[in-house]
Amino acid sequence: MYNAKAFAAASATSPLASTTIARRDPSERDLQIEILFCGICHSDLHTVRNEWGNVNPTIYPCVPGHEIVGRVIKAGAAVTRFKPGDIAAVGCMVDSDGACPECQAGLEQFCPNLTFTFNSPDKQIGGVTFGGYSESVVVNEHFVLRVPSHLNLAGAAPLLCAGITTYSPMRRWGVTKGKKVGIVGLGGLGHMGVKFAHAFGAHVVVFTSSSRKKEAARQLGADDVVVSRHAGEMQKHAGSFDFILDTISADHDINAYINLLRRGGNLTLVGAAPKPLAVAAFGLLFGNRILSGSLIGGIPETQEMLDFCGQHNITADVEVIPIQKVNEAYERLLKSDVKYRFSIDLASLKSA
Ligand code: NAP
Ligand code: ZN
Repeated sequence: MYNAKAFAAASATSPLASTTIARRDPSERDLQIEILFCGICHSDLHTVRNEWGNVNPTIYPCVPGHEIVGRVIKAGAAVTRFKPGDIAAVGCMVDSDGACPECQAGLEQFCPNLTFTFNSPDKQIGGVTFGGYSESVVVNEHFVLRVPSHLNLAGAAPLLCAGITTYSPMRRWGVTKGKKVGIVGLGGLGHMGVKFAHAFGAHVVVFTSSSRKKEAARQLGADDVVVSRHAGEMQKHAGSFDFILDTISADHDINAYINLLRRGGNLTLVGAAPKPLAVAAFGLLFGNRILSGSLIGGIPETQEMLDFCGQHNITADVEVIPIQKVNEAYERLLKSDVKYRFSIDLASLKSA
């Protein structure tokens, strides 16, 4: 075991503050990674504040962060794909049983013995796992991804969650050229959704509650932008979408979007609002519409997504911050005041 500097929340109402955590020494299949950048996902905020407490209570101290890019410091003897000095990335998962049908299918996120990057029981050293708001992390090689070498590392970090969470459902539901696709909520996930849908050749419409984001949405690749509180603008798109990705992090009227689907169209929910959403049956019945969900993506698809980003030069638009600004960043995230992802430069932790 060794000590690593980190930022943790001591309770649901405490700000994140500097602390020291224990990490395991790398075993023969592990990589020890010096963390360079870690994105701030809204899931970090939900977890730190225990907003999902009824489903997955937060264990404190909580060190969040699952959009990690870093440099390999040590590689165990049985590691085959990485060596010290390599750039490596870690997303939302750090371990699974490797044997169950889900793992065999490359859908590790559904393994019954999955260990999430933070706030999961730590099967190796006990206690709870600690995430990327930290100077280093030790991870089994299977859960370590390759980042195409020409991508900006601060902007690549958010691909590990916001990227795969939006890429995966669009691939699954056949978002391609000629399809009309809606992206609801222009935050960290939403702006990646726009970039991918545009890269897949779809006609992309952004739905935002913030009229000030209209122009920026077009620059990201949107063909049209609708301010969601304008009922007339919404109505113009009734019954027309093949696919809608809903990334909203809070309570909202999902029926307003279901009604925009064409017959047989699909709305996939990736936003994880803490309270249940009310769904009107008739919105689904009329038109044989489909409401579905999607959870991040498996390791093989995450690597596919990173390679796609390499080919198409896609990264997140980030505001790079020192770790000392993390509490301010959370307040701004709650006000949808970030274009479009905060990425923490962990070099700042040295002076924390
Ligand atoms: P984010 O950057 O805060 O973006 C959420 C966006 O939702 C905001 O930018 C805002 O967009 C819109 N929004 C927020 N509150 C709203 C409200 N009250 N009414 C209407 N719109 C509202 O968050 P994120 O990191 O993209 O994460 C989004 C959600 O996805 C979170 O709940 C997160 O936990 C979840 N998530 C799920 C997965 C998964 O595997 N399914 C993975 C990662 C994250 P506008 O300003 O454009 O309206
Ligand atoms: Zn996330």
